[in-house]
Order: sequence, then C-alpha cells, then structure tokens
Amino acid sequence: MRPIRRGDRGRAVTEIRAVLVGLGLLPAGGPPGADEFEAETERAVRAFQQDRGLNVDGQVGPETWRALDAARWRLGARTLYQAIPDPLIGEDVRTLQERLLEMGYDVGRADGVYGARTARAVAQFQREVGLPPDGACGPHTMNALRRLGRKVVGGRPTLLRESDAFRQSGPNLVGKVIVVDPGHDPFDPGFVVQDGTMRWTEADLAYDLAARLEGRLAAAGMRVHLTRGPAPAAPLADLTRADLANELGGDLLISLHIDGHANPEAEGVATYHYGTANGVTSSVGERLAGLVQREIVVRTGLRNCQTHAKTWELLRLTRMPAVRVDVGYLTSPTDRARLIDPRFRDRVVDAIVAAVQRMYFPVEEDVPTGSIDVSELRAMVAAGAAAHD
Ligand SMILES: [Zn+2]
Repeated sequence: MRPIRRGDRGRAVTEIRAVLVGLGLLPAGGPPGADEFEAETERAVRAFQQDRGLNVDGQVGPETWRALDAARWRLGARTLYQAIPDPLIGEDVRTLQERLLEMGYDVGRADGVYGARTARAVAQFQREVGLPPDGACGPHTMNALRRLGRKVVGGRPTLLRESDAFRQSGPNLVGKVIVVDPGHDPFDPGFVVQDGTMRWTEADLAYDLAARLEGRLAAAGMRVHLTRGPAPAAPLADLTRADLANELGGDLLISLHIDGHANPEAEGVATYHYGTANGVTSSVGERLAGLVQREIVVRTGLRNCQTHAKTWELLRLTRMPAVRVDVGYLTSPTDRARLIDPRFRDRVVDAIVAAVQRMYFPVEEDVPTGSIDVSELRAMVAAGAAAHD
C-alpha cells in the first residue's frame, strides 16, 4: 500500500481526514499544499494507530479504516440498539460498555460491538433504574447513565470475570478446546525471504508450527482446531479467524506468526495479548502471553522481545484469552537458521505446550520454567484429573 495523496480514492480521503479532525489529530483549517497534505495525513494516521494499539505504518488498510470509521461515533450522538444481522459498531458502543462494566454489568469484553450481551446488560440496567427494559440505549437511558455512571466505580469486572471463568474451568487440559491460528495464508504470505534456492514464507512456517502444536496438544488430551489448512482456497482475515474461534467455543487461542524487519539484526520472540494503553487488559491473556514468552526464551535462547498489550482485531474480538506469538525474525540470518531447523520448531512447540499446561495447573503445583518434559504431560494431566474428580 502507498501513502495517501490528495485526490486519492476521493471520498475515503475526505472521510479519513474528517475523522482525524474530529479526534483533534488534524487541524480543522483547509488542507495545506500537496506535499504537506500527504505528510500531515500520514502523521495523523500514525498518531491514531499508536493511540489504538494498531500497527503504526501511517497507512489506512482495512483494520485502520474500520477503527477510524468506528472512532467517529461519540456516546449520545445516536441511539444504540441490537441491530441484526449487522450490529452497531463504534467508539460510542465501547464507551457505553466500559461504563456498564465499571458499574458491574456483564457485557463481556468492551469490544465496541453492540451484541446480545450488551443489550441484555442495558436491559438489566434499565430495569434497575425503572426504565422500560428494551435493551436499547436512547436519550432516557443515556441520562440515567450520566446521573449514575460516576457514582459507581468498581475495580475491573471484566478482568475479574475472565479470571473467574478460567479458574472455574478447572486445572485440567483434557477436553479443553484450543484454537491454533497459523498466521497469514498463500494470498498474504507475510514475510518472505529467498535464501539461495530456498524460499521461506511466514505463512508456511507458521502452518508447520501450528501442525506440530496441534499434534502435541491433542496428545495431551485437548481438543485442537486450526483456523486454516496449509493452502486455504480464499484469503482469511483476522476478523474471520476471530469469528471462527468464537463459534468453536475455544478456551484459548494461540496465533502463530514470524516477525521480520528491514534491519537484518532485528531478532527475537515477542508475545501479544489484548489490552489498551489506559491499562484495560485481559489478565488471563496476559498471563498466558507471559508464560509462552518465558518458556520460549528459556528453551530456545531466542532474544527476549517481551510481552505487549495490543488491541488487534484477533485479540479484541475473540471471547477467549488469546495470545499471538511472533517466533523470531525471518529476516534475521541467525533466527532464520534456527527456524528452518525442524528440531528447533519442535522446541518452540514444546515451550508453548508447557506454557499452556502451566495455565491449567495451580501455582503450588508449578515446576521451574523449562523443566517440564512434554512426554510426561499426559501422566501429569491424568494424575491431575484424578486428584480433582
Ligand atoms: Zn505475521
């Protein structure tokens, strides 16, 4: 994709700039000269992406566009209700959800989508303040929220609720549904490196890791689903992958990617979980990301590029704790030499399995990082299941 220029995609540029002006990221005056137009728009898009935890590239791809489109709505500017089949999406919905969460209503994750759960929470709120419980948020409900919203501020109910649900699901891998998501596809192969006669793509390596992981987790008694095969017939957007994981009712999602950079010295492993810049985080996702990060670093020696909170669609729109791992840099000769070695990929998979296993065992049964032998997992799981029956 190329930068935005004046005259590009007519209406879209006007709309993009209008949203950025509305957010205070662009001056409201008339557009500057042609050179400055491009630079100014790109700067503002970057600032927006930074703020939303999106990839900061200054370009308006589909994910950034959806975020911009959603950002234009301020709470109170329109009546919110559960629209079927296309739900209302926007910043106003997210603000509403965050307020309801602060007051202890169960809307799930504040994902900016006005679905059935949000409508139910609104109806419950309406009942409690004596309004007709229609589940829609119009002027009366908005007024009631304004009056009460500031008085009732609790901890972080989503965070606690997610942890509770996870704890209640029990310390057992057997029967848990895990969705493994090999990043990219043949239509968008991610990073590609031609090395002599060999051509390495992020999509292929991610699929290989996913297939290995599928085998190990299945052997440990989990029900494993892959979001795609080695050569899907159509491109698979993150949005579609998130929908699929939700439909499958996953207990956990692990998305596998390989990183890359123009600088061949960039190397290492990083993990990502759902979270925003203002401290809202998926605590279970954060814990899983931390465990995956720690196990991979200890078992493979890849450079530790840490765990980070992001609002990427795959992390935000999945209802289960979700983690994305970027295992090494395909563009780094050091990391690449490791990644193309199947034994190394097995070690990465061992590390992820050990991290998942740690998620389901109480802390007191925890063993030192890097010391779980995956072949012993089944026995441990069986023993654990017997002890908790
Ligand atoms: Zn990728």
